[in-house]
Amino acid sequence: MSVPLRCVSTRGGAPAVPLGEAIAAGLAPDGGLYVPERLPALDPAAFDPRGTLADTAAALLAPFFAGDPLADALPAICAEALDFPVPLRPLAGRADARVLELFHGPTAAFKDVGARFLAACLRRLPRAGARPLTILVATSGDTGAAVGAAFHGQPGVRVAILYPDGLVSPRQAHQLGSFGGNVRALRVAGRFDDCQRMVKAALNDAGLQRAVPLSSANSISLGRLLPQMSYYAHAALQWRHGHGGTLDFIVPTGNLGNALACVWARALGLPVGEIRLACNANATLPEFFAGAGYRPREARATLANAMDVGAPSNFERLRWTYRGDDEALRRALRADSVDDATIRATLLRHARERGEAFCPHTATALALLDREPPRERGAWAVVATAHPAKFESVLEPLLGRSMAVPPALAAMLERPARAEPLPATDESLKHWLEAWR
Ligand SMILES: *Cc1c(COP(=O)(O)O)cnc(C)c1O
Repeated sequence: MSVPLRCVSTRGGAPAVPLGEAIAAGLAPDGGLYVPERLPALDPAAFDPRGTLADTAAALLAPFFAGDPLADALPAICAEALDFPVPLRPLAGRADARVLELFHGPTAAFKDVGARFLAACLRRLPRAGARPLTILVATSGDTGAAVGAAFHGQPGVRVAILYPDGLVSPRQAHQLGSFGGNVRALRVAGRFDDCQRMVKAALNDAGLQRAVPLSSANSISLGRLLPQMSYYAHAALQWRHGHGGTLDFIVPTGNLGNALACVWARALGLPVGEIRLACNANATLPEFFAGAGYRPREARATLANAMDVGAPSNFERLRWTYRGDDEALRRALRADSVDDATIRATLLRHARERGEAFCPHTATALALLDREPPRERGAWAVVATAHPAKFESVLEPLLGRSMAVPPALAAMLERPARAEPLPATDESLKHWLEAWR
């Protein structure tokens, strides 16, 4: 067995802890984000290219879990959490591109991967005390549903979902409020960044934590981030097996959890080539990569609402990955902005010319692909982050037809839904949590 890999904080002010502890805690005690103390080197030839996603995940994550109490359960965790397909399929009209569909889980967005993995880990971690663990999740729409679905009905755990009122699609809002029982939805009078700030403040409040044991399930949780590497590994290994060489990725990006997993998969030695970050009109990252400083700001609302982030929380981890060397980071990735008019035009063109519907987030990646000249060798994988039916309020008026809803999503939409209003202040969340019985 290799030396246990422990987790440290991006801010360097917290003791190193085993992975399971970092997963249970969410945020590090110094306010930083947990990262593995190093990224292990993996040999692509050691993976079975015909294995399932769960097989790839178990092999990929084994060095991270080595020596941790969860290590023996890792194959079972992967099999339980990653039990749906992530097809890499052709894209009509572009021989040099593929679509990596990440939306075949229960809530029809890629967030199911991380949420289900995190839930499968937490279920197996010993807990001190008899009080339930309260999981806080700030969501721009998809995360909350995935986390709610992953923990719904699980004993010893309850979930509070915070989402920006009026800034998620009607179907997303319905999904968020549809759980009941141990999962409550709070519609916050603010933006996603407010929800995220409120969650961070609650997690950093030692007094509140003593009264109400808290954890987070945002992409700041390592338990969500690590498993997201597996679909990049799986797709890139499949590509290498069939065609040789590396696979390049275009990743719709908001809080940077999905794209960071791609960056880490490449850093581990998997056959991932170029990585492009597709952002909406929230241009914090494109401006940074174009040479400006890192200037977090308030988010603005766009058609790709799950990417309406002005202060991407995983940026701190991305910087850590390049040891704080911003020039090295700028050489390693590119980020580009796609405005709403281009999102609309891209969605319309794919529907008209190829009869295909995509979600507005996936459209940002397709728009970046359009800017790339066709190539003879290699391929781009456009990452499709959600099923188009989740964004009916954008797509149906635009395309003039209704979207077929996948069965799991349809079942959720048939349940009644309820969300409680909450002002966008740290105090109001604190009071709400203290009163939750
Ligand atoms: C969350 C989300 C994104 C953005 O992913 P990040 O990990 O926050 O960068 C993109 N598309 C969809 C559909 C999402 O739900």
